[in-house]
Amino acid sequence: MRELKAKIVEFAKKDGIDLIGFADRSRFEGVAAKNNPFAIFPEAKTVILVGKRICRGSLRGIEEGTNFGDYQLFGKNWLEDEFLALSAYNLTNFIESNGWEATPVFPNPSDIEPSGVSVGDGKPAPNVYPDFDYAAVATGLCTISYNGIPFSKEFGSRQRFHMILTDAELESTPLLTENICNGCRSCADACPLGAISKEETEEIEICGMKFTVGKIDYSKCKLCENGAVVNRFSASSKPDRVAALCNRTCMCGLEERGALTNTFENKFRYRDAWSIGKDNTGMDRSDEQANVLGGSFSKSGKRGH
Ligand code: SF4
Ligand code: SF4
Repeated sequence: MRELKAKIVEFAKKDGIDLIGFADRSRFEGVAAKNNPFAIFPEAKTVILVGKRICRGSLRGIEEGTNFGDYQLFGKNWLEDEFLALSAYNLTNFIESNGWEATPVFPNPSDIEPSGVSVGDGKPAPNVYPDFDYAAVATGLCTISYNGIPFSKEFGSRQRFHMILTDAELESTPLLTENICNGCRSCADACPLGAISKEETEEIEICGMKFTVGKIDYSKCKLCENGAVVNRFSASSKPDRVAALCNRTCMCGLEERGALTNTFENKFRYRDAWSIGKDNTGMDRSDEQANVLGGSFSKSGKRGH
């Protein structure tokens, strides 16, 4: 099986997949059946998560406030539905060409309740939608940030995932023990709507690893005009916040402190970030917001260099 895993990784990389992680059944013990991938394929032995990066340039139009549509294509819908879907599907076919069943699973929001009725035998009602944030940690690719988003060491928050379940028994990827988020709270300072608490937190435990996440008022994020995008599958589910001001500001900080392996010649933020708050002028910014939204991100609070 070691040879098969190496062949799968080689095929995936050649086909343009940026991230690939493996997790055995034990890493999903205790996960509710309605979100458990092994409820979809009970004889599966391995969950494979495959990811492609969200290119940094797809956030540029939102950072400048001059183009919001292209992120939704290159950073979200096309990336998830076309580019990544095709690579993930090619990999399922490769695995099946090697004699093992491979079940592709789309990243639907896991908080959507089942819409059907159980067919019996204690089976969960359809549709089972696995929790991809959980899977990103369980497959050793990510940790969960204070901002509530999975961060990889390669791209931080900038990736999308698809899942493949297979009855091939493939060795699990070691869990990512280094937390990419350092708990700096700049995401909370950057939010013009005060949606992320700096004091109130919750603890999320996945595969024995504990993550501190700020309490986030998602009702504010759903109305946010600073780059957040309403969930395209279910308006009541969490919005996409990768391109939102909170997360773009975080990205600047991650890059500045060298936390990511995907690096760039030039910084991302060149000038004060625009924001739409209560009065649409940015004049209602707190000192903390003014500091973190400056043209040059600075943890010391200095701006403009
Ligand atoms: S801004 Fe700081 S606290 Fe917030 S998610 Fe990024 S690294 Fe974590
Ligand atoms: S999505 Fe908008 S409202 Fe929500 S935390 Fe980010 S900046 Fe604030």
